[in-house]
Amino acid sequence: MINLYGQEINKLTNLMIEEGQKPFRAIQLYTWIYEKRATSFDEMSDISIKFREVLKEKYCLDLPKIYLKQVSQDDTVKLLLELEDGMKVESVLMRYTYGCAVCVSSQVGCNMACSFCSSGILGKQRNLKPEEMVGQVLIMNNLLKEEGRGQHVTHVVVMGTGEPFDNYDNVMDFIRIINHQKGLAIGARHITVSTCGLIEGIKKYAREGLQTNLAISLHAPNNELRDQLMKVNKAYPLEVLMPAIKEYEEIAGRRVTYEYLLLEGINDTKEHAQELINLIKGTKGYVNLIPYNETNKNSAYHRSSGNRVHTFLDILTKGGVTATIRKEFGSDIDAACGQLKAKNEGLYEK
Ligand code: SAH
Repeated sequence: MINLYGQEINKLTNLMIEEGQKPFRAIQLYTWIYEKRATSFDEMSDISIKFREVLKEKYCLDLPKIYLKQVSQDDTVKLLLELEDGMKVESVLMRYTYGCAVCVSSQVGCNMACSFCSSGILGKQRNLKPEEMVGQVLIMNNLLKEEGRGQHVTHVVVMGTGEPFDNYDNVMDFIRIINHQKGLAIGARHITVSTCGLIEGIKKYAREGLQTNLAISLHAPNNELRDQLMKVNKAYPLEVLMPAIKEYEEIAGRRVTYEYLLLEGINDTKEHAQELINLIKGTKGYVNLIPYNETNKNSAYHRSSGNRVHTFLDILTKGGVTATIRKEFGSDIDAACGQLKAKNEGLYEK
């Protein structure tokens, strides 16, 4: 069975041509499933009964199942979704004044093994298919519709479990589906992909001709420290990462966001802030400081105190670097990075 939710428009057009259909069938199907939100082929009244039978035989409109749902005091929704093969992934809905954002997972587990992150505990189990990422957004849209407040998903960040550039092609199909005018029509500037720094991915992404955003998980201003926190730095140290970011800025014509997790006593001193300014000053990117979500009671890392965060921010600002502190959502419901899944599978106690 081919899941329609996983079909990028050109691929769907080719499938329709192979079925002996006119190319416009693809757009017609997009309109039915994304605009009119049809969930069965029988609803597609302007498609002949005969072809609907063909569709029913070969194609499906399957979504992941909601296995667990948690709603926090700030209305953040965290879902643990069950996929076709029983594997589970997390997805989070966050509400901003300007809209609703979904934090999408791109893999089951993750191979990057960053020392502070619970997504990497078991390594990568598999890549998510485009329909499994589109499904996360559709399920959140359904929840919003049920709430009846007239809201829908306006922003997508690929910052859930997984390394998107380790599942490059599927993530690109996903982006093209949600960005397409007749797809979910989520504006490119409202879509952000976050990478730990896989150089080949950054270079390719620069050439996709997309107006989407790129975030780089930096977390340390020098190789020694970054090696400790992020294994990926050994393969792609800062002297190759930074030029790749400059190349991205030039080719895509977009500035990146640097994500910088603040870990008390590890990477949050005044010297680190100064070093960070020197590291990124040749680029146009700005810094998003992330308060660390302590993953369990035995965590080796701790969130930096408010004072240290503000001192860090001050130094960056005075040094001419634009920086913000990330707003936190759902910290009462394990909404950070693989926590719900890890807890559900007994990987740690909270
Ligand atoms: N693999 C990609 C995307 C997933 S992680 C990447 O590395 O960018 C999304 C962001 O959450 C990354 O910046 C990651 O470093 C950060 N993160 C991981 N664990 C965290 C935690 N416990 N608290 C806060 N942020 C965390």
